Amino acid sequence: KEKLLEVKNLKKYFKVSRTDVLKAVDDVSFDIYKGETFGLVGESGCGKSTTGRTIIRLYEPTSGKVIFGGQEIGGKLSGKSKKDLTKKMQMIFQDPYASLNPRMMVKDIISEGLNIHHIESSNKSRLERVYELLETVGLNKEHANRYPHEFSGGQRQRIGIARALAVNPEFIIADEPISALDVSIQAQVVNLLQELQETKGLTYLFIAHDLSMVKHISDRVGVMYLGNMAELAPSEELYDHPLHPYTQALLSAIPVADPEVERTRERIILQGDVPSPINPPSGCRFRTRCPFAMDICAKVRPNWHEVENGHWVACHLHDEGQSSAKAE
Ligand code: SF4
Ligand code: MG
Repeated sequence: KEKLLEVKNLKKYFKVSRTDVLKAVDDVSFDIYKGETFGLVGESGCGKSTTGRTIIRLYEPTSGKVIFGGQEIGGKLSGKSKKDLTKKMQMIFQDPYASLNPRMMVKDIISEGLNIHHIESSNKSRLERVYELLETVGLNKEHANRYPHEFSGGQRQRIGIARALAVNPEFIIADEPISALDVSIQAQVVNLLQELQETKGLTYLFIAHDLSMVKHISDRVGVMYLGNMAELAPSEELYDHPLHPYTQALLSAIPVADPEVERTRERIILQGDVPSPINPPSGCRFRTRCPFAMDICAKVRPNWHEVENGHWVACHLHDEGQSSAKAE
């Protein structure tokens, strides 16, 4: 499999006061393969959105590397390299109400990227392209001269998708693209994204706050907790054999359709709230809520490593050399 994106030891810290630093993303590493959907999951505040925004350079990383198509996205980006980058990577946002400028007509929203990148220079060809994009996302040319408030949430998200597609990107970061939509609309938007992936050969980083949302669409899934990556595996492997206690807890909270299974299976109930990413717990950040925490968990940060074929975890129960100790 060909790597499209490599994230290496990425950190993004925010100074929140004279003395306090919020470690939103703290040493996160993973790869995304060409053509796949990579689901990135975790509770709010775990750093998943910040990871996405740092990859696409809406934020400057504090340290670490992002390599895209074999090329490092380095240093402070000049206007030109930033433009080149946004042509290859685009973002779809969570809130289709907030992410579209209410004073712009749909055709102007969609063609903004075309103007910036000088893609279709004549007014006529630009408009043709807008019509084509509207059809691609299931809208039509009658929608071009309207304003965002004239559309439903699902339609607005389609407009957001058309805007992202306008510059022919290879990679799209979708930050909770369906969380703000009615359940009845969510599947439609997901289907559209999947269709587009097939026809255009797109690669997705799909950010979501719960595991059930990304289960069917992701080839691989990464689970974040408090700025760290806890576990990463091919979807089926992750859902069938979760290794990290946090993943196990998240999965045990998802109801199972089969009532027999539902009645007999064990639930892991997490105690307490997610601690603040300012002064997070020492060692393993999950230890204050982990039912299996041991002495070492407070002292040593667990190593992020590949346990077997593509299954990564950071947990002392699964340390290298330790014969896959099972949590009892
Ligand atoms: Fe729990 Fe320790 Fe594993 Fe952290 S390292 S998840 S505290 S067992
Ligand atoms: Mg978010």
